[in-house]
Amino acid sequence: MQARDTEPSAPRRRLLWSALSLLVITLLALLVWLANRFEVSQVQDRLERDASEAVVDIRAALTRNLQSLQKLQFHTPGSQPWRMETADLLRQRRELVRIEWRDSAKQVLAFLDSPYRAPVFNFLGRTGSGSDVGQTCEVARRLSGPAYSSSYFVLQSDVLGLELMDLCLPIMVAGRESGFLVVSYSLQDMLSEFVGSQYAHGREVSFTEGDGTRLAIDGAVRRVGREFSAKSLLELPGNTLVLRLNSWRRAPELFPNVLSALVAALALALTMILWLLGRDMRRRLRAERELADTLAFRKAMEDSLLTGLRARDLQGRITYVNPAFCQMVGFPAEELVGQSVDAPYWPPEYSEEYKKRQAIRLAGKVPPREGFESVFMRKDGTRFPVLIIEAPLINAQGAQTGWMSAFLDISEQRKVEELSRASQERLQATARLALVGEMASLLSHELNQPLAAIAGYAAGMRNLQQTSLLSDADAQLVVQRISEQAERAGRIIKSVHDFVRRRDQAREDASAQELIDAILPLLNLQARKLSVQVSLLLRPDLPRVHCDRTMVEQVLLNLARNGMQAMDEPGLWPRLLELRAQLINVEGVQWVEFSVADIGTGIDPEIEQQLFTPFFTTKAEGMGLGLSLCRTVIEQHGGTMRFERNQPQGTVFSFTLPCAESA
Ligand code: ADP
Repeated sequence: MQARDTEPSAPRRRLLWSALSLLVITLLALLVWLANRFEVSQVQDRLERDASEAVVDIRAALTRNLQSLQKLQFHTPGSQPWRMETADLLRQRRELVRIEWRDSAKQVLAFLDSPYRAPVFNFLGRTGSGSDVGQTCEVARRLSGPAYSSSYFVLQSDVLGLELMDLCLPIMVAGRESGFLVVSYSLQDMLSEFVGSQYAHGREVSFTEGDGTRLAIDGAVRRVGREFSAKSLLELPGNTLVLRLNSWRRAPELFPNVLSALVAALALALTMILWLLGRDMRRRLRAERELADTLAFRKAMEDSLLTGLRARDLQGRITYVNPAFCQMVGFPAEELVGQSVDAPYWPPEYSEEYKKRQAIRLAGKVPPREGFESVFMRKDGTRFPVLIIEAPLINAQGAQTGWMSAFLDISEQRKVEELSRASQERLQATARLALVGEMASLLSHELNQPLAAIAGYAAGMRNLQQTSLLSDADAQLVVQRISEQAERAGRIIKSVHDFVRRRDQAREDASAQELIDAILPLLNLQARKLSVQVSLLLRPDLPRVHCDRTMVEQVLLNLARNGMQAMDEPGLWPRLLELRAQLINVEGVQWVEFSVADIGTGIDPEIEQQLFTPFFTTKAEGMGLGLSLCRTVIEQHGGTMRFERNQPQGTVFSFTLPCAESA
């Protein structure tokens, strides 16, 4: 039942599971999103790196061109070699659309157009093209080096046009400026020639203005999916261009890369594990519920038992008691569980003995299967007998974890036993009395006849004497008759004496131990009833005694019973009865002295004198024959019987018996 109380309720468990699932799903979504983002940032980074590297390439190509152009200034402008070399250069470099030689006043001295396209300035003319060569060359002059113009659009026909950029390179002869070399670059061709295919592949490369207006573009790409864009500045003397790289990626794939796939696989595995865990949990719950049911069933069974149950661990601590046990001893389970030696239900007077017994048990000695008897104490101090059956407690692994004991309160059984014993005793006593009475009446009847005959003869003789008719012969006959009757009476008495003498022949040699052993079972029965502890103190090497065993046993039993009854006072603890036997020497003769010592109420000095008087008793159910019979029996054996005060209280009754040798 307890397991069910602590088990979370079904809605709460469902809530916990939902929260866990939600958390896991959120975590997984976050992981996938992060993996995607990581991928996106990688693409963007690569694009930006490529843009800046492309700019470096363009700058390097422009510098290379400058070097080639500088070689042209060593020829006479317009001369055949100049033309040849210029044409050569224009053939090699597609991005150059026109090379002009101008004098210091920027007037064209000679020029050549690229062989790859129609002369670009033919449609609108050089000046109408919107270029400002003059200004560019002024900048070049100021810089004493190459200068680039800003880009400009040159219409080629009605619809087509070209974005161009001029380069003005001052020509120095002997340290003096002698003219300018003006070169027109096609921005579009610059892109296709200068930007390496490794950067341009699958991308769109373009030059733009600061505001994003496209000036020239290269590369045809399918614009699908997400657009990525990176810019890098191409700073030239006199002009700054913006290089832009654009790429498109398809709509994000479910698993854009290995990382995302891995994350997704992990997520799947996690979900699977969650599901398996959930299933396991359900099974566990079911098993727990079944276990709880079994436990409840067991508990109900234990609670309904009348037999007390107690479990102890290997250290002797109580680990479990059932309600029947608590009821038996009157202590609640809380006061019992955890107790070790000196359990509260141990009577203090037996504590030492029980401790020894527990030590033996803990040492691993298996108790007898049929159980043993013991005495327990209720919370109110009353003692009661119990039958204990102990067995080792074995756990599921087969190891012993302690001891399990079952207890039966046998006070009722004892009461019945005692009742039958007492009634039997009473019966015996009554029978004995009846026998004595019968014997007495028989004796009186038997004696009556000879006595009556004697009286008759005596009366007859007196009568005859008075009438003087009594002859001597008659007198002799009467006296003979009287003596015959007297003899008969004597025989009757002798037969009684013979009967008693016959018991003498029943005497035999017995040891003190044998005598006491014979009465111990009966003694213990009564001792248990009155919660008395019986102890024996028999000196070793005692000689055997010569006695009528049955009678002496009866004497011992009587004295012991009297002693126990004298201690049957409420609140008198402990109740100890000691049986002793020792050798004493009286005037050179050796006797074995038996003593029965109690620590009871003692004997009132006023009644001391009457103790051995037949029929004297202070007990409601007493007959008062016990002590007088005892003394008679002992005296018949030649011994003596006496009593004295015990220390600190109680009485000691002692009697002596002759040793076997002296007898
Ligand atoms: P009964 O036991 O039937 O009374 P007994 O002759 O055995 O007859 O005892 C006579 C009386 O002597 C008892 O009633 C009791 O008062 C007293 N008596 C005997 N033994 C003891 C004893 N050990 N302590 C105190 N009184 C005793």
